[in-house]
Amino acid sequence: MSIKERLHNILATLPEGVSLVAVSKFHPAERLQEAYDAGQRIFGESRPQEMAAKQAVLPDDIVWTMIGHLQTNKVKMIAPFVSMISSVDSERLTAEIERQAAKCNRTIDILLEVHVADEQTKSGWDYEELRQYLATGSLQRMEHIRVRGVMTIATNTDDERIIRRDFERIRSIYNELKPLFDESFDTLSIGMSDDYPIALEYGSTMVRIGTAIFGAREY
Ligand SMILES: *Cc1c(COP(=O)(O)O)cnc(C)c1O
Repeated sequence: MSIKERLHNILATLPEGVSLVAVSKFHPAERLQEAYDAGQRIFGESRPQEMAAKQAVLPDDIVWTMIGHLQTNKVKMIAPFVSMISSVDSERLTAEIERQAAKCNRTIDILLEVHVADEQTKSGWDYEELRQYLATGSLQRMEHIRVRGVMTIATNTDDERIIRRDFERIRSIYNELKPLFDESFDTLSIGMSDDYPIALEYGSTMVRIGTAIFGAREY
């Protein structure tokens, strides 16, 4: 199947209002162009250098979304053009995004990545620490950051009950945090190639799909 056919098959299963991030990390720019020509505009990358290199050669109306763990010293590489950083997991990172976005005279959308999975290796905020940070109000005062919602990666397992538990947990976190922000807090980003049909049942508004569109990645 072509990228175009795979994209269209996936889009046909997404309810109205759910956006698709095409996760293109590790795939060459030509493959992204193919998806672009099929109508896709939102692309997800996990490494700032790779994203910046692709941004330089691909169309200007692409909506670039950072999905991978981001080191603070790399924010400046993507701040001039990135639309959303969906992997925000520390105070230091929010402060640096605010600083770099201000320098570029831009507002950057972010998602708060919360850790709910079993694996300790997974990134994301500990929910209690996040709540304490949000209680200070400092994030809400940052003028160049718009907090759009939350993101998580479910436990990597074949046990569907555990995946459902993770999605249930992040949905309740989303509902708890929503009152702390204005109406632009509207995004629950859950669901990848293997688990997005389940994520949709839990109210996902933004799925992040790589393998099912572009095939397996060569690392
Ligand atoms: C790689 C990645 C994805 C896409 O995973 P697939 O299984 O290829 O769909 C989604 N979200 C994040 C955060 C990723 O790092």
